[in-house]
Amino acid sequence: MGTKNETALAGRELDTALELHHRSWTLDGDLYRCANCKRGQLASFSSEKVVHASDCKVKDVVSDHPWQDLARLITGIQTSQSNLA
Ligand SMILES: [Zn+2]
Repeated sequence: MGTKNETALAGRELDTALELHHRSWTLDGDLYRCANCKRGQLASFSSEKVVHASDCKVKDVVSDHPWQDLARLITGIQTSQSNLA
C-alpha cells in the first residue's frame, strides 16, 4: 500500500485502492483491525505504528499506518458542502 501518494486518486482507481486497503484492514467502529491478527488501532493513535500480535502473518508486509493510508486515499473525495450554496 501507499505507492501512489503524490496525486489524489479518483474513479475506479480510488475504488481499487480502497478495496486493496480493506483486504489488509477492517474498519470496526473507531478501530482499524488487522485482517490477520485482528489487533486494532484507534484513529486517535494514527501516528503510531500498529502493534500486531507476535504471530501475525502479515505484520511485516502491511502498512504500519492504516489510518494515514485511508486519509491519503480519500484526499480527492469532494464533500457535497460546496454544492449546497
Ligand atoms: Zn496483524
